[in-house]
Amino acid sequence: MNDAPAARTTTRPRKGEGQWALGYTEPLNKNEQSKKDDNPLNVRTRIENIYSKRGFDSIDPADLRGRFRWYGIYTQRAPGLDGGKTGALEEEQLDDRYFMMRVRSDGRLLNPEQLRVLGAISTDFARSTADITDRSNIQYHWIEIEDVPTIWERLEAVGLSTEEACGDSPRGMLGSPVAGVAKDEIIDGTPAIAEINKRRAGNPEYSNLPRKFKTSVSGHPSLDGAPEINDVSFVGVVHPEHGPGFDLWVGGALSTNPFLSERLGVWIPLDEVADVWEGVISIFRDYGYRRLRSRARLKFLVKDWGGDKFREVLETEYLKRPLIRNASPEKATRNGDHIGVHEQKDGNFYIGAAPVVGRINGELLTSLGDLIEEHGVAGVRFTAYQKLVLIGVAPDKVNAVVEGLDRIGLQANPSNWRRSTMACTGIEFCKLAIVDTKQRAHDLIASLEQRFPELDTPITVNVNGCPNSCARTQVADIGLKGQLVLDDDGNQVEGFQVHLGGGIGLTTALGRKLRAHKVTSKGLDDYVTNVVNVYLAQRNQDESFAAWVAR
Ligand code: SF4
Repeated sequence: MNDAPAARTTTRPRKGEGQWALGYTEPLNKNEQSKKDDNPLNVRTRIENIYSKRGFDSIDPADLRGRFRWYGIYTQRAPGLDGGKTGALEEEQLDDRYFMMRVRSDGRLLNPEQLRVLGAISTDFARSTADITDRSNIQYHWIEIEDVPTIWERLEAVGLSTEEACGDSPRGMLGSPVAGVAKDEIIDGTPAIAEINKRRAGNPEYSNLPRKFKTSVSGHPSLDGAPEINDVSFVGVVHPEHGPGFDLWVGGALSTNPFLSERLGVWIPLDEVADVWEGVISIFRDYGYRRLRSRARLKFLVKDWGGDKFREVLETEYLKRPLIRNASPEKATRNGDHIGVHEQKDGNFYIGAAPVVGRINGELLTSLGDLIEEHGVAGVRFTAYQKLVLIGVAPDKVNAVVEGLDRIGLQANPSNWRRSTMACTGIEFCKLAIVDTKQRAHDLIASLEQRFPELDTPITVNVNGCPNSCARTQVADIGLKGQLVLDDDGNQVEGFQVHLGGGIGLTTALGRKLRAHKVTSKGLDDYVTNVVNVYLAQRNQDESFAAWVAR
């Protein structure tokens, strides 16, 4: 499965797309050239032996702005840059001398020691920053190059890693936060994630992809691994004869050309998931469009080919066998954020808790490790919604654990607004940002909690700092895309283009972009208040926000 085919003839060559499988192996842009010049995974040795010893100014720009990403490291935004006014700047003018760093969790159940290590790295090297991302990573800021080898040493001592947390590579994988314990689980995908990770880690076959590659493996019927928007998703399903297994969904992604996954309608047993994953990632590597970065995600290939051809190529050229056909799951059976207290199949409980838009800190991570140890909790998983779930809480410990979570700023019974709002990194640290997001979302939540304290139906709000949609603009009830807008006096100010009525899970739809709905950042609280009031006044009984928008 690891052998990259030299050239294939089943598809008519499309000149200029840069597809390796069609013989176009010469790099067509500087990113492709950089990956060809040197396997990006080799940068680790230079970080350890040269850059961390000689300091920031010794870093080769091709590593700094390219290959570092393969170890989850980006330069963060230089201080004092206005949003939207950075287009004319050279890349180096955008770079701070500090780094953002992502640690993969890959659906792992994190134990007290791992949480304390994550916490100590934050307090020792990252000015106590830590965000839970919507790919269930931990993201630090303010990292200095001199500290990177020590951070890796500490992470690897407890089985954690930053390898391929960014870059044109297989990124951190999403699993079900309640894998192995939920009463209504179809199948536990954890062993498949472990096997995929084993085949991925350090493997040069998968370290030069056309672009990022996102994986989700969840056997929970709530579709809690966001399968609609991952490049490849294994989705729990029951076959009438063969029993529980996984359907295969491909090509989901958002950004400026959003595309919801194509459902291939197959049945894959647990022990074949890693083989199929290797087939799909190999198709992406070999047939993916490498000429333009803006067309390089798998979704463009899937869109051009369609699901039937994708499945056929997978079967005939990569797996060398047909996949078993089966009906795809229709939609989620329930909300998949897992917030609150829920009984497990073994009589223990899991508890989903919400920080504010994923923002936590080093002290909190350390305290969380201590809390779960004190109460004998099995561990913690991060979710695809910037939240976390404690697994294996004994019935007589539930109240104490919920109180302990509350003391450290994690609510197991949050307001709708805290529960259902996400925000990307935004202008505080992201070089591409146009507007502030985390603080803006924090203030919006506080305001909406006062204005709608007893909201009886979930309404999701996703706040994004630019069109890249890292916090999923198009799949929220109220999706906000950061951009400059005009205020009442005609001045360009921070604001948002609004998308309404999108969702994943219970409602799968891309939100409608309403051109007239542009709002200044300052006016956001009032805008959301107005929209929610109109919805509450007009809705029919039990009509969801998305259904109301779709009328
Ligand atoms: Fe940065 Fe834009 Fe992504 Fe937000 S959406 S993290 S601003 S690239």
